[in-house]
Amino acid sequence: MNAELQLSQASLQDYLDCRRRFYLRHVLQLAWPGHQTDHAEQQQVRAQRGVAFHRLLHQHLIGLPEERLAAIASEAGLYNWWRSYRQYPVPGLQSENHAEISLSAPLSAHRLVAKYDLVSIGPQVMIVDWKTSKRRDESWLRARMQTRVYLYLMVLAGPDLHGGVEPDQVEMVYWFADDPQDPVRLSYDRQQFEQDDQDLRAVVEEIDSLTEDEFVLTDDTSQCRFCAFRSLCDRGVLPGSIDEFESGWEADEWTRAEIDYDQIGEIAF
Ligand code: SF4
Repeated sequence: MNAELQLSQASLQDYLDCRRRFYLRHVLQLAWPGHQTDHAEQQQVRAQRGVAFHRLLHQHLIGLPEERLAAIASEAGLYNWWRSYRQYPVPGLQSENHAEISLSAPLSAHRLVAKYDLVSIGPQVMIVDWKTSKRRDESWLRARMQTRVYLYLMVLAGPDLHGGVEPDQVEMVYWFADDPQDPVRLSYDRQQFEQDDQDLRAVVEEIDSLTEDEFVLTDDTSQCRFCAFRSLCDRGVLPGSIDEFESGWEADEWTRAEIDYDQIGEIAF
């Protein structure tokens, strides 16, 4: 695999979900015109609202006037989420806050990159991720590549940002726009950091060892429901339902991908 290929939580999650999807999307960078859901327009609107909400919070965190942002939120149909954000801020935010910051560090022959919605720095380092999706079971969130990559990379690449921290000083907080009073907080420790280091290096080395033919289609056909490559892979032409898309994590993955591609500078380690 070309060492120029940067790896992110999204590409690694794609690899774990389906090697073929990883190859098509991240190696070939193929844009395939398949619909992800049975209501493509509604899906597009829903996903773009997620992106617009993230941009709104970024603008608030860099100091744009609150009244102006509230007006934008109303015009864009984001007022309920905006009100939740103002009414129920993430508890424990510290004095130094960085919105939409990117970090990167070497991982085997590649670079691992991540873009954070908000990093709040004090005695602890709190990683905050805004979620406009609904799925929030803790064990599932804990196992996602987003959680593992964000925490791992913050310890690895963070010294330039916060002077260096031990893993147990870092915390991941998922704040849900539809359930703002009860964010999911995930702690970290040295043992998890070392496990992540071992697992992530093993995945990257496996990716590098494969030939093109070995990026095979997943056996888990549930992964194909919302995948735009369905027709290319001959995994059916009917997309998944918009209701399932909206109640799960998929809409948020789309939002995250849009935000990740919109790089705003990076601190490299
Ligand atoms: S349609 Fe299914 S097999 Fe094909 S890339 Fe998507 S998830 Fe993989």
